[in-house]
Amino acid sequence: MKPTLWHILGAGSLGALWATRLARAGLPVRLILRDAARLDAYQGKGGLTLSEQGQRQTFAIAAQTADASEPIQRLLVACKAYDAQRAVASIASRLSHGAEILLLQNGLGSQDAVAATVPQARCIFVSSTEGAFRDEDFSVVFAGQGLNFLGDAQQGAAPDWLGELLAAGIDHQWTTAIHERLWRKLALNCAINPLTVLHACRNGGLQAYAGEVSALCEELIQVLQCCGQPRAAEGLQGQVNQVILATAANYSSMYQDVAQGRRTEISFLLGYICESAVRHACHAPQLNRTRVQLIEHLKAKGLPSD
Ligand code: NAP
Repeated sequence: MKPTLWHILGAGSLGALWATRLARAGLPVRLILRDAARLDAYQGKGGLTLSEQGQRQTFAIAAQTADASEPIQRLLVACKAYDAQRAVASIASRLSHGAEILLLQNGLGSQDAVAATVPQARCIFVSSTEGAFRDEDFSVVFAGQGLNFLGDAQQGAAPDWLGELLAAGIDHQWTTAIHERLWRKLALNCAINPLTVLHACRNGGLQAYAGEVSALCEELIQVLQCCGQPRAAEGLQGQVNQVILATAANYSSMYQDVAQGRRTEISFLLGYICESAVRHACHAPQLNRTRVQLIEHLKAKGLPSD
């Protein structure tokens, strides 16, 4: 039987990382780009380039825009959280009966927004610890090995195509606790990333602000418990400290976004946590103060604060 075509919506860092590895394994892949101008730019490049362990390889993966008519059975959404819903809406009419959509977005909130936009599709949430960045347009550097946890809101059975990820060398694990994974990653992110922006430091620099980190962790634990995610709260403080030490020399993704003048995913990280706390009548003054400070910081830099 012919393998199902992988449509990849967004050819940035993670989209390119997935597309090139799938194509390298001989699987059929189609990119969906933002508009005709981006399609022209892509065609001018002659394909997507993957740099891995010093080796560069270009793959001439076919591309199209959202208004193409080809039906979509399996879609990987690789946009930022703030673009995901609009991007999926643009291809919604092309989804086949029983379509599956993999959502790679960080944080929480965008996945539910997408699922509400396309209730006919099976949404699979992905929590990725892989790291990649664009060194130039349509060229990605695989910077950090990691694992992709996949699961759905219904705690359903694993799909039968996980073998394709194995063949493509995409490390993955199916989980029935994907929400717990996403909440835990969200909490780690909220404990570290905003403070690295506000104190203009690498992750390791937060050792000098241990009191602030610890106060945020205490509140995060309470909010996770109020939100019905007690398992995501277990040992949070210890893991935050471990991450700070293990990644001491790194700049957080939010720090890098701000430093490079890019929009952050604040609404789907700290914003989501603070709004969840309100919904569950959970007092979270430290998190709210940090959110306000971060919004002011972004505004002062002329960056979007949502
Ligand atoms: P990225 O490099 O900025 O890529 C996003 C891509 O989405 C861009 O290429 C953008 O197109 C495209 N896009 C936006 N709207 C679109 C639309 N309507 N139609 C088609 N394409 C559209 O972002 P990323 O780093 O891959 O991150 C994607 C998600 O993965 C984020 O939520 C991020 O937090 C998460 N994540 C990233 C990493 C990582 O290491 N990079 C790791 C874990 C999780 P243009 O190129 O035209 O702007």
